[in-house]
Amino acid sequence: MPIYEYKCTDCHRKFSRLVGSIDAPPPPCKYCSSSHVARLISRFARHKSEEDTLDGLAEKLETADESNPTALRQMAKEMSNELGEEISDEEIESILEGDDTGSGDEV
Ligand SMILES: [Zn+2]
Repeated sequence: MPIYEYKCTDCHRKFSRLVGSIDAPPPPCKYCSSSHVARLISRFARHKSEEDTLDGLAEKLETADESNPTALRQMAKEMSNELGEEISDEEIESILEGDDTGSGDEV
């Protein structure tokens, strides 16, 4: 079954849904229950390449200067622009997870 990604036009948040049919009507917003949601490009179709890109991004970050989280975040943002895909702060954090020792901005 395909997974579709939707964006709520009320609260502007994105969420994905597993749908049973291509013609299924968009579900209400997961966050605010609004019915004003737009279906984005099928995540199903591009899921693989997105995963690969994120893997590549993680790899790149691993070899980057880990003592400079600000630079890492900047790099992630730039790569997200290249993807034409907005990477949320949460996603960046999850990519950086493990590298962040919580020691703050030590240089
Ligand atoms: Zn919403």
